[in-house]
Amino acid sequence: MDQVLISEVGPRDGLQSVQAIMSLPHKCAWISALHASGLREIEVGSFVPAHLLPQLADTAEVVRHALGLSGLTVMALTPNRRGAQAAFEAGVHKITLPVSASEAHSLANVRKTCAQMVQEVREVVRLRDEQAPQVKVEAGVSTAFGCTLQGAVDETHVLNLAQALAEAGVDDIGLSDTTGMADPAAVRRLFKGLQQAVGEKAGAAHLHNTRGLGLANALAAYDVGVRTFDSSQAGLGGCPYAPGASGNVVTEDLVFMFEAMGVHTGVDLVRLMQAREALRAGLPHEPLYGMTPEAGLPAHFQPTPGPARACLTP
Ligand code: ZN
Repeated sequence: MDQVLISEVGPRDGLQSVQAIMSLPHKCAWISALHASGLREIEVGSFVPAHLLPQLADTAEVVRHALGLSGLTVMALTPNRRGAQAAFEAGVHKITLPVSASEAHSLANVRKTCAQMVQEVREVVRLRDEQAPQVKVEAGVSTAFGCTLQGAVDETHVLNLAQALAEAGVDDIGLSDTTGMADPAAVRRLFKGLQQAVGEKAGAAHLHNTRGLGLANALAAYDVGVRTFDSSQAGLGGCPYAPGASGNVVTEDLVFMFEAMGVHTGVDLVRLMQAREALRAGLPHEPLYGMTPEAGLPAHFQPTPGPARACLTP
């Protein structure tokens, strides 16, 4: 029985990319609806200064709400020590640190070079060990497949960076196609390389659908053994410089692909599609993407049965 973990990033990656600000009650209702569909890992926000990302200024309150949802791994993005400290205080289960493989993107995004960012990650791991040893630390190598500022990103550089992050003590390392430039061949090559470079610490595929290759890239990653996938409901995000382009891989379509091919996701597609209503209520003017929600499920569709669960109550 094969299964994957779908890590929903809409409340972070999606909401940070749209102009409108979703209210706290709407965020909480949306996250509850996502959880009710069976999603068991949600990146609920980002601990960055409010003046940089006013859309996510209430992340600590969102975390507080999400911690009340049973069985949910509550994740937040933290770019540095200060953010990590706030995330630990809020009580998150897991943090993700973006480390750009492109020097140009790294300087623009966090005003640090790649090497300085590795040092920052090392210090965050030390802080975690001292203050919140139960919290998992993930590093996501962003712009791993290309960068709008720098252009091509050298694959050897990406793998060396992943190795440095593993040595810095993070629990796992994912690869992000931040700019939607990956293709299936590159995804296979780079994830295989990642597994060789960091072994058990090889982590999630974070793919964007900017050029329509999101699902093809996800399948390529699955084929070489990746089992955790970031995606966002309704492909929320988009790119301000490419009108009509969707953002992250659409969670609904990704879940449909896996369930249809016999890979268990634990997500109920009907309830997942119902969760779009909570998103729509919070962001009424934002376009929602997704082929599966538009077409509906095939009449004969059967979700993939999950692993047999031991019955705990008599
Ligand atoms: Zn992203």
